[in-house]
Amino acid sequence: MKQYLWLKLPKTPDFMSVLTLGTVAFDTIDTPFGSSGKVVGGAASYIALAVSHFAAKQHVVSVIGNDFPETFLDELTDRGAGLEGLTRVADGKSFHWAGSYHNDMVGRDTLATDLNVLVGWEPKVCSQGAEASFVMLGNLDPAVQLAVLDQMSSPKLVVLDTMNFWMDVALENLKKVVTRVDVLTVNDEEARQLTGEHFLPKAAKAIHAMGPSTVVIKKGEHGALMFQEGQTFFAPAYPLEHVVDPTGAGDTFAGGFVGYLSARHLAKGEVTWDDMKQAVTVGSVMASFTCEAFGTDGLKSLTVEDMKVRWREYKALTACGELVWP
Ligand code: AMP
Repeated sequence: MKQYLWLKLPKTPDFMSVLTLGTVAFDTIDTPFGSSGKVVGGAASYIALAVSHFAAKQHVVSVIGNDFPETFLDELTDRGAGLEGLTRVADGKSFHWAGSYHNDMVGRDTLATDLNVLVGWEPKVCSQGAEASFVMLGNLDPAVQLAVLDQMSSPKLVVLDTMNFWMDVALENLKKVVTRVDVLTVNDEEARQLTGEHFLPKAAKAIHAMGPSTVVIKKGEHGALMFQEGQTFFAPAYPLEHVVDPTGAGDTFAGGFVGYLSARHLAKGEVTWDDMKQAVTVGSVMASFTCEAFGTDGLKSLTVEDMKVRWREYKALTACGELVWP
């Protein structure tokens, strides 16, 4: 029988849980190789599925309309996600994003961002969720991210993901959130846009100066760079022979990263730089599964064995041993 990671998890006390914020939504995706139609997506959907592989308890804070399928919510609940923070708007439509990928399957054009139920939504964190040690602020209006942070008791680690859309329309609030988080994950172009620095190590320094002690800059199929206190770590992306849909790869990465850290913290009471390096590799490998199918399908069917097998192949990618000078 296939073994899913989330079936093996120990019971976690509430204060060790993960709080996940983001969109639970519909996406419509076009690529040069195919179209998804309308599928379940949203940053929090990907993050929550990724986190569920590591954290027995998770609190999802999001908002949906009357059009969202119960089956997906049941799947989240089965994986240990508490949905007390999920607002259901009886007469509203769920957030919808449509995008079209370029031939390189990295660049994409946003065709529609229908905010729908996001407009005017005030996030409510339940009392148990407020005690969570790890907070994953997924891509969303920075005003909402601030409102959630204000409701948290005393999180140990706050990770922020955002995108150019919010830099364009809500930069001031975004800068306020950035000052209050421990880790920022952005892609290379977003890091440049946020800081005005072209070279990524310099952009990372500029972001450190804004607040976050750890900066992760994602470079799509070219991997990710992590910066912390003068230390740098590079993690390649797993080289897939065929990419079906990269949507959600960044969210999966972030969810795998924070989920893994929460589990390490539960196991040994601290999170070190080495744990963070491992977390980046775990996030990278998990994200590769998301890219193999439209929507959340690649992530939903992921097993412990799939993860371990691919992680070993991934590790071998850069394991060249000590330098032998001729
Ligand atoms: P990623 O490919 O990791 O950047 O994430 C894509 C996901 O983010 C999709 O599932 C979308 O539903 C969601 N998304 C796209 N634009 C926005 C936005 N402006 N705010 C919040 N979520 C968004």
